[in-house]
Amino acid sequence: MGIYYIIGIIGVFFVFIAFIISNNKKYGKYLFDEIFNFLGSFLLSIYAFNGRMWPFFVLNIFWIIWSIKLFFSEKKLKKKKNNKKKVLYIDMDGVIVDFQSGVNTLSDEEKIKNEGKYCKVKDIFSKMKPIDGAVNAVKKLSEKYDVYILSSPGWDNASAWSDKYNWVNEYLPFMRKRLILSNHKNLNKGDYLIDDRYANGSEKFYGELIHFRSIKYKDWDSVLDHLL
Ligand SMILES: [Mg+2]
Repeated sequence: MGIYYIIGIIGVFFVFIAFIISNNKKYGKYLFDEIFNFLGSFLLSIYAFNGRMWPFFVLNIFWIIWSIKLFFSEKKLKKKKNNKKKVLYIDMDGVIVDFQSGVNTLSDEEKIKNEGKYCKVKDIFSKMKPIDGAVNAVKKLSEKYDVYILSSPGWDNASAWSDKYNWVNEYLPFMRKRLILSNHKNLNKGDYLIDDRYANGSEKFYGELIHFRSIKYKDWDSVLDHLL
């Protein structure tokens, strides 16, 4: 058996391995299929050249070029995918907004009248202050994550919708186009949700729910320790 014949057989074997790998997702993502494609077509081109099989030789040269092109384009794609930031949602009330600070601005009479339903008081959300460390934490997290604010506005208080926008515009202006108001937080795809309640869809969130004010995540420092 001649040496070129053996080279041809090894070439076919490599191409076969490339075919198996490319049909297997687990191995396919490691670019091995393009490497075996390259090696296989290279050996087959030597075999074709020796046998003066010019059409087969030309075909293999194209095959070599194609496998190199695929290798670099997949590598680029993989790098792009790895560089993609994870999506992080942050709730407002009780997480970055101090709800009680808004309640404190009400008169005694208003407090008695609205007890248990403060979220329905007109303009109350515009009077709230940020929670300690929240503004800085959102800025830090935005460097590493693709951050959105995901809040549930009260359905019986129309001013809550504009107040929330104005609040974000005042304290976190770079987030104003990243404000999502929804009572179905589970419909938002993402990796993390920082929320202080298991309600309005947060309990069904697909990613990791970071329960703010729980024993594990009692403040922003503990949340940043986990995420940064
Ligand atoms: Mg909340």
